[in-house]
Amino acid sequence: MSKDDYWKKKLSKEQYHILREKGTEQPFTGEYNDHFIEGAFHCVACDALLFESNKKFNAGCGWPSFSDMAKSENIIFKEDTSLASVRTEVLCGKCHGHLGHVFDDGPTETGKRYCINSICLKFKPYTRSD
Ligand SMILES: [Zn+2]
Repeated sequence: MSKDDYWKKKLSKEQYHILREKGTEQPFTGEYNDHFIEGAFHCVACDALLFESNKKFNAGCGWPSFSDMAKSENIIFKEDTSLASVRTEVLCGKCHGHLGHVFDDGPTETGKRYCINSICLKFKPYTRSD
């Protein structure tokens, strides 16, 4: 089975389009855009830990926004010249799925704004052992 066939089987049509064909979901439509519960955001395709709720903020742009990644080895960056301006693409470090873009206009001390498609994420609330 080719890699494309593998992902076509594993992902929904929209997930495939965004993760594997670098699509973008419509703003303000994603499940996690307006979602502020404590927990971790994993890659929907391969389950890698990508972001955590303590770095999530409301950027008002219509997509889940984070000021930093959870684990640097789970994120890779790539220069994206598909539009007139050069942007930095954010990909999952494990499965190389397209997640979104990162911008240098973040409001927190990191100065970063990770603008991530909600559909690429799977939220897991923190569990307590007690
Ligand atoms: Zn992944």
